[in-house]
Amino acid sequence: METALWHPFSDMAAVREGEFVVERGEDVWVHDTDGNRYLDATASLWYVNVGHGRAEIAEAAADQMRKLAGYSIFGDFTNEPARALAARIAGLAPMPDAKVFFTTGGGEAIDSAVKIARRYHDAQGESSRVHVISRVNSYHGTNGIGTGVAGIEANRSGFGEILPSSSRVPFDSVDALRAEILRVGPEKVAAFLFEPVIGAGGVLLPPEGYVRDVIEVCHEYGVLVIADAVICGFGRLGTWFGVERWDAVPDLITFAKGVTSGYLPLGGVVAHGRVAEPFWSRAGNPLRHGSTYSGHPACCAAGLVNIDLLERDGLVERGRTMEGVLESALRPLESHELVAEVRAGIGLLGAVELSPDLLRRLPSAVADLQVLVRQRGVLLRPLGKALAVSPPLTIQAEQLEEIGDAFAAGLDELA
Ligand code: PLP
Repeated sequence: METALWHPFSDMAAVREGEFVVERGEDVWVHDTDGNRYLDATASLWYVNVGHGRAEIAEAAADQMRKLAGYSIFGDFTNEPARALAARIAGLAPMPDAKVFFTTGGGEAIDSAVKIARRYHDAQGESSRVHVISRVNSYHGTNGIGTGVAGIEANRSGFGEILPSSSRVPFDSVDALRAEILRVGPEKVAAFLFEPVIGAGGVLLPPEGYVRDVIEVCHEYGVLVIADAVICGFGRLGTWFGVERWDAVPDLITFAKGVTSGYLPLGGVVAHGRVAEPFWSRAGNPLRHGSTYSGHPACCAAGLVNIDLLERDGLVERGRTMEGVLESALRPLESHELVAEVRAGIGLLGAVELSPDLLRRLPSAVADLQVLVRQRGVLLRPLGKALAVSPPLTIQAEQLEEIGDAFAAGLDELA
C-alpha cells in the first residue's frame, strides 16, 4: 500500500512504494517488520547513545505522564523534571554559572541560540550585531535560522533568502574567519556558529588547534561563539558537550539528540553566565522567545534517567576509549579502490567517502552501498559522497569490526 507519510529529506518519488519499517530494538540492534535483525551502526540519526530498549527511560517518562501530563515553564511556573534537568546540565557544562533554555529539538535550539546572541548584544547596546557566520559543510537543522545559515548548500537552496545577515567561511580556516569578521565589520557580527566535529556535512574533523583558536579570534572582536553540540554532545566525542576535548569554553552550546538518547524529543541551549546576565539581573528584560513544550516534564524525566545511564555505565568515557577501535575498523577501507578517504579518530563517529571516479561512473553509489551493507545486516547513513557510522556508545569491539567487514563486503560487491 502506498504510504501517506512524507519522509523528511527524502525523494518521495522513490520512497513512496518501498519503505523500510523498523519495529523494535535492543541495545545496538534493531529489527524490521519482516523479522530481520540489523546492527544499528548510526544509532538512528546519531542519537540513541545509550542503546535501544532501555526500560528505565520508558518507565520514568510513563511515570511522569501519569503524574502530570505536562506543564508549561512560562513565567514563574515550572515542573520538577525541568528544574532538575536544567540543574544537572548546568552542572555538567564547561562554562561558569551556566543557564539552560529548553527546546523540543536541535533545530529549535539553533534558532534559540542565535536569537539569544542577538538579544544579548541588543541588551548591551550593540543592536547592529546581527550577522551570523557559520561554516561551509555545516548542518544546523532546518528551522528558519538553521536553514538560513546552512553550510550544506543544497539545504539552503530553493527557499529564497531566509537570513540575509549571514555568511559562511571554509570549515578549516581560522584566518578565513578573522577575515570574514573584518569584512562584515566586527560591530555587525553577532555570532559564529560551529560544530566541533561537522556531522551531517560528512564527519569533518577540526584541524589541530582550530576549536580554541576560533573562540579566541571571536572574543577578540566581541563575537559570541555558539558550539553546536547536537551531535557531538552526551558522549559522542567522549565528553558531555564535545568542546571539552579542546578545553574550550564557548558562550552558548546547543544540544539535543543524546540528551534523551532520542527516547523523547528534547533539545536546548546552555548559556554562559555572562551571556545570561542581562536577562537574569535586569528587570523588564525578558527573552521573548520559547515554545509550548519548552521544559516538557516527560521529556525532561527521560533526559534525567538517560544521563543517569550515561554516568552509571561509563558511556561518556566510552565515546573516547572506543574511538581508536572504530578507527581501526574503518581505516583499512581506505586502501579499497572505491574509497577516497576514511575520516575517524575523534569520538564514536566516522565516515567513509567514496572515490570521485566511482561517483562519476555511478552517481547512485552511496545509496547503492547503503543497501548492499544493509543486506549484510548493518545500517549506515548516507551523507553526500560518504556513508557515516555513529553507533550507540554501548557498542562492542567485535561489533565495530562487523561494521568494517560489512562495509568492505559491500564495496567489493559494488566494484
Ligand atoms: N545541529 C546539528 C549539528 C545536527 O546534526 C542537527 C540534526 O541532525 C541539528 C542541529 C538539528 O536537530 P533537529 O533535527 O533535532 O532539529
